[in-house]
Amino acid sequence: MSNVKNIDWGKLGFNYIKTDLRYVSIWKDGSWDDGKLVEDNNITISEGSTAIHYGQQCFEGLKAYRTAEGKIQLFRPDENAKRMNNSCKRLLMPELPIEKFVEACVQVVKANEAYVPPYGTGATLYLRPYVIGIGDNLGVKPAPEFLFGVFCSPVGPYFKGGLAPVNFMISDYDRAAPYGTGAAKVGGNYAASLLAHEIAVKRGFADCIYLDPLTHSKIEEVGAANFFGITKDNKFVTPKSDSILPSITKYSLMHVAKEYLGLEVEERDVLIDNLDEFKEAGACGTAAVITPIGGIEYKEELHVFHSETVVGPITRKLYDTLCGIQIGEVKAPEGWIVEVK
Ligand SMILES: *Cc1c(COP(=O)(O)O)cnc(C)c1O
Repeated sequence: MSNVKNIDWGKLGFNYIKTDLRYVSIWKDGSWDDGKLVEDNNITISEGSTAIHYGQQCFEGLKAYRTAEGKIQLFRPDENAKRMNNSCKRLLMPELPIEKFVEACVQVVKANEAYVPPYGTGATLYLRPYVIGIGDNLGVKPAPEFLFGVFCSPVGPYFKGGLAPVNFMISDYDRAAPYGTGAAKVGGNYAASLLAHEIAVKRGFADCIYLDPLTHSKIEEVGAANFFGITKDNKFVTPKSDSILPSITKYSLMHVAKEYLGLEVEERDVLIDNLDEFKEAGACGTAAVITPIGGIEYKEELHVFHSETVVGPITRKLYDTLCGIQIGEVKAPEGWIVEVK
């Protein structure tokens, strides 16, 4: 293993740590340039940039994992590339060739190899690709130029003390509109969620759950993660809606549930008035893989699933299997792993 940084990997949280190099590519006059790795972690852009005023920007999040043999691998980066292109289309930003996106991620990991946490620490190297509208502009219209960047930061294990359930509350706020940008990974959805998140945390919850913006009767997102439940007859159920951000972790868990655990999988409405159908529930996303949901507070009542303190057995199996795939200990489906060499 090459020179690994002297970082206390076990103490890492989810914080920005400046690494050595990051990737930047500029779109201008109809095409992307070749892109390059740069040392400077500051970007200088026009004060008129659409990213600043009109929210014309999107981002992605994925991780590089160290295997027991010391190899480094990415998990389904092509899926992040496709999703970023969908976000770009929605906000009239130029798409990127999938190979360019994956290659930029690979280059950034290689250039910062010393920051990839050692196997067994639970820590990983988080990658943050993004596209922003830049260039001189004033009126509401797409930017004349765009910047695609990828930087990375080592992050700690989400659960320092093992998989522990947490409670959530239903929010009265929406993070996205019915035909808005909910399915695009754009900053505006996040800005819209900050207040609801703060209220939930102040009330002692891990985060809030958003209902469908049209009728407020169906579960959509759990903070910035997708929802799943395990029914009493062992089905993996997750909500279907055009205003949910399609989580790559969620679609991966659906595959794991079906092909590795032999569960039936359903994507359909999850009614907030019918939580009794589930014996376990969880939130899923790249950061934590799975956050077991202890209980959900709705109309002043806490609905508890499996337990407020102990993770359910199926949630545990889903978590172990997907984490095993990501760190190279469980055989991955074809095409899910990209080795960084
Ligand atoms: C990124 C994100 C997720 C999780 O997606 P993953 O691909 O699994 O990381 C879920 N919900 C929202 C709103 C997100 O922005």
